[in-house]
Order: sequence, then C-alpha cells, then structure tokens
Amino acid sequence: MNDEFLPFARPSISQEAIAEVVACLESGWITTGPRVKRFEEDLKVYLRAPHCVLLSSATAGLHLALLALGLRDGDEVITTPLTFAATLNAIVLAGGRPVLVDVDPHTFNMDVAAAAATITARTRAIVPVHFAGLPVDLDPLYELAHEHGLRVIEDAAHAIGTEYKGRRIGSFGDTQVFSFHPNKNMTTGEGGCVATRDEQLARSISVLRFHGIDRDAWNRFGKEGSQHYEVIAPGYKYNMMDIQAALGLHQLPALEGFIARRSELAERYQHELAEWRELTRPGTPAYEHRHAWHLYTPLINPEAAGMDREGFMSAMKARNIGTGLHYECAHLYAYYRQRFGFQPGQFPHAEHIGERIVSLPLFPSMSDAQQQRVITTMAELFGRGAT
Ligand SMILES: *Cc1c(COP(=O)(O)O)cnc(C)c1O
Repeated sequence: MNDEFLPFARPSISQEAIAEVVACLESGWITTGPRVKRFEEDLKVYLRAPHCVLLSSATAGLHLALLALGLRDGDEVITTPLTFAATLNAIVLAGGRPVLVDVDPHTFNMDVAAAAATITARTRAIVPVHFAGLPVDLDPLYELAHEHGLRVIEDAAHAIGTEYKGRRIGSFGDTQVFSFHPNKNMTTGEGGCVATRDEQLARSISVLRFHGIDRDAWNRFGKEGSQHYEVIAPGYKYNMMDIQAALGLHQLPALEGFIARRSELAERYQHELAEWRELTRPGTPAYEHRHAWHLYTPLINPEAAGMDREGFMSAMKARNIGTGLHYECAHLYAYYRQRFGFQPGQFPHAEHIGERIVSLPLFPSMSDAQQQRVITTMAELFGRGAT
C-alpha cells in the first residue's frame, strides 16, 4: 500500500502569493485596506460584475445578501436540499423560511420546473446552488423569478469560473455569492465575495459587513473630519483582511489554469469510469455550459459495489486516500426536521443522491499517477482486478 496520504482537496499556493502575504505583514496594514480594494477591482474585471463586496466567507455573503432583502417573518426562500448547511442556515438567520425543491437526478441541480410549483404569495427569493460548478438552468429560473417578482441570490460557492450559455456566472442576473474556502476553486484561506448588479444591495452589504458603519451617511449629516462616522444599523464583523486578499490577488490570475487542470482530471474520471456498474457518474445537461469542476461526485451503487458509501469512504481511507461528502441532504439535519417538519421521503432524488454521493480526489496539483492510484484502488475494492 502507498503510505503517502492523498487528500481529496488541496489548495495550490504560489511562491508569489506567499511573498505577497509576507509583504502585507511587513507593510504594517494587515486588515481591510489597499489589498482588499485591489482584489475587489480584479474580481470586478474577472466576473464582469459592476459591484463586488468582499467578506470573511461565502456564508457571511449569503447571510448579508439575504438580510439586505428585508425578509419578514414567514417570508419564503426557495432552495435545494442538496447543499451545504450554510445555504439553509443563512436563509433562517436572515429571517426566512426555507422552501425546498428536489433536484434533477442527473445534474444534481435544482429542478427549475419543480420550483414553479412551490411559489406562494409569501415567496420572496430563490437561492439556486451551482452544484460542483455545474450551472443551474438559469434562463428558465430568471424567467420564473421575473414573472413572480422574486429576487435571485445564487449560491455560487462552487462556481467561480463557471459559464452558462457563454456567460460567466457573476456577469449577469441578480446577485452571486462566491467562496474562497481552501477547498474551493480558488482560496484566500477563508473568504467570500458578493457580486451584484444592484447598487443599493451592494451598499447595504458593505455597511452591514462592518458594524453598520456608514461613512457616506455621516457625510450626509455634514460633520467634518475622518474620525467621525455614523452607525445606521447593528452590523456584523464580516470584513475580509488584507492578509487574505494578498492570497486572492495571486489566486485569481491562476484560476483559469486551475480549472483547466480540474477539467482534465474530471474528464479522465468520466472516461475511465464509464463502464463501471458500481458507480453512477455525474451527468451533464443539454444546454451549453462550462463546468468549473469544483468537485467530482459519482454515486456509489451499493448492490453492484458490494458496499455502501460509508463503507467505500472508510475503505479508501484505510488505503490512504481521502474522499469528501458533499452533501447529505440538509433538510434531514435535526434542526431542520424539528423547526420546519421536514421528513425523509419528501425529496426522493436528493435523498437518493445524498445517501450515495462521494467526492473523489480532485485538485489542480494532483498528478496523473495520483489519479491512477485512485482508479486502481477503486478497481481493487470493487474486485475488478487491475486496470
Ligand atoms: C463552501 C460552501 C458555502 C460556504 O462557503 P464559506 O466560504 O465556507 O462560508 C456555501 N454554500 C456552498 C454550496 C458551499 O459549498
């Protein structure tokens, strides 16, 4: 057995990024400052978004974007059960009630046609999740939103670099929230970004991310001197630090290369595993898109594989290969069952996937030999002999 542990994800940090962090530390300015400003400008260019607001995480971004909508008690927000808990948590923290829609069994993304049936007089927003970096079918989704006057806050945590019909996620539509967690397609350690075409929303988020302090409001009230400011809301402490932006400044120019390598690896998995009955490979939709391949997530078919997903994950771990679990269905967590009465059986496609899905190792610096080791190990586990 190979005694080197292969993780399922690993960030690629260049020497230039490390030098930038050191320069930031030596500059005397380490929290929000000039590097955050530069990174924000760079992201606006990359995303082709008029407004970008940088934050301490995507969770903070989802929270503030939803909070800025001014939801009232009982207001409903539509999302998917097949997502990280942060998506639902943010809806609840912003005062909304999560209303869930089952996913398409092939793409694992929200079934937009099914979303229409869940709209009520209390629906205020839709939060689609671009699962694994595969874009949700946004044309019909935005059509539905416009028809009913709903806001759309895209959970784009997996989707920096994703394209839908030739357009980059972040460059069109309402509002998108990106994550720079170490496992995501690019990282600032922890960090997130809200991109939006709504100037007022961007302003609200900028104020809420730092104690509710509004320097423009203070200017409006006509005092003088930079020490003074106005507090217009009880805000949060969700700002990004310059130390984090120092990494981001060098991750962003590397992103296209990261996605190219991720795509190569994902396509090899798709090709090599094509005939395996033990696995169901992730499917792709008919509409034109670029997958950012944040994750490679097949399903384990327990009957053919002779083991369930948990058995598979521990067997891989015993052979020094890490795997990830993205995700078990969020509606089945204790809080969501108890508070909103969600039950097993309500979202059959998402639950089928949530019980079988596993994330195989996939990261830009993964070598062909490391990927071969994953494939060979799985073949042995399933009794397929060497491939
Ligand atoms: C990672 C992730 C988040 C949260 O991102 P953070 O930056 O870690 O807060 C939200 N939604 C989804 C789908 C994610 O994968």
